[in-house]
Amino acid sequence: MASRPSDILVVGAGIVGCAVAYELARRGASVEVVDERPVAMGATQASAGVLAPYIEAREDSPLLDLAVRSLNLYDDFIARVADDSGIAVPYRRTGTLDVATDESELAALRTIASVLRRRAVPSLLLDAASARAEEPLLADGVAGGLLIENHGFVAAAQLTHALVAAARRHGAQLVEQSRVRRIRRSGAEVLVDTDRGSLTSGAVVLAAGTWSGAIDIDGVMTRVPVRPVRGQLLHLGWSEPPLRRVTWSRRCYMVPWDDGTVLVGATAEEAGFDERATVSGVHDLLGAACDLTPHAWTASFRDVRVGLRPATADALPVIGASRAVPEVMYATGHFRNGVLLAPLTAQLVADAMLDGRIDPLLERVKPSRFGDL
Ligand SMILES: Cc1cc2nc3c(=O)[nH]c(=O)nc-3n(C[C@H](O)[C@H](O)[C@H](O)COP(=O)(O)OP(=O)(O)OC[C@H]3O[C@@H](n4cnc5c(N)ncnc54)[C@H](O)[C@@H]3O)c2cc1C
Repeated sequence: MASRPSDILVVGAGIVGCAVAYELARRGASVEVVDERPVAMGATQASAGVLAPYIEAREDSPLLDLAVRSLNLYDDFIARVADDSGIAVPYRRTGTLDVATDESELAALRTIASVLRRRAVPSLLLDAASARAEEPLLADGVAGGLLIENHGFVAAAQLTHALVAAARRHGAQLVEQSRVRRIRRSGAEVLVDTDRGSLTSGAVVLAAGTWSGAIDIDGVMTRVPVRPVRGQLLHLGWSEPPLRRVTWSRRCYMVPWDDGTVLVGATAEEAGFDERATVSGVHDLLGAACDLTPHAWTASFRDVRVGLRPATADALPVIGASRAVPEVMYATGHFRNGVLLAPLTAQLVADAMLDGRIDPLLERVKPSRFGDL
């Protein structure tokens, strides 16, 4: 039999594709990752990297279970990637402070606090004075807050580069500047046609983020229904004193980095595949940041980042093998939580592809909920 270059080819070098590639490679598979852009230059480069499953905790959604499981993997995941790559990735678990500015927002925080109590997740519901004591930079007039201690944040692009380095140490290869157009079976193999020729593999992971639906798969009539939701994010230079932790209002969140900068996110816009920043996006985020903490008026403006979140109709990711072409595994549609969900996605995909273990949670995110995928 002719030898083929890889057991598994991963389409997409965002955080999801790279986490999957690393996990597969570290478990012994031969892996290639193909992308038309440089590593992490899709939605991942714009991500704030916040790891906060409980911020919008809704117990009726499987997203909460997925996100909590993934957060629980994060400490070990970061340590392993750092070990395997030799790259230290900025990662903090300093908690989040979710701020209410009126009585109805405070009521929403009370509901989340009751979910957290039932799940024995450490959190503190704060009145106005205690919220301002926790974060002295808050504006006057806050109504209260909710402190969730085990939340955190990670440098998403740096983590993705570390994942690639770690995967390479386990033998994975990166194929750059190649746009995948079509996936088709040929005997026992899968051919992946790119604009620079065809690649051969035993199986394919489709992790092309919001562009996943643009790739033809022979034998699959329905395109995976992932749509772009544009997010704009500001990068500010901060002056002393720093914010103590990730701080949220209904209109923005702010992420304080050790290098003295702050990320302010994020817009959520239905703007098709347009990756341009807009005056209104920047204006709204600056206004929201200055309202949350007037200290933001003293910040310098570094840049604005724009990314297209891969969204699905039910806001859940699409993870699992294609029913029509089982050699194709979907790992896409991670919408607002791709960074948070990356370690769990990698684990679920590797368990399924290498060991035939199908986690019960996959039932909730299976591709076939959207038709004959
Ligand atoms: C402003 C903003 C803030 C965010 N904040 C957070 C946050 O705080 N926490 C969190 O968990 N998530 C956050 N997200 C969401 C998170 O960034 C995404 O869910 C995640 O990056 C998706 O990763 P991905 O690998 O699926 O997609 P991407 O990062 O978009 O990667 C997909 C890759 O596939 C490649 N590709 C596409 N089509 C092809 C093709 N045909 N051939 C070859 N390559 C192809 C692209 O070039 C790209 O590199 C945020 C997103 C935005 C925009």
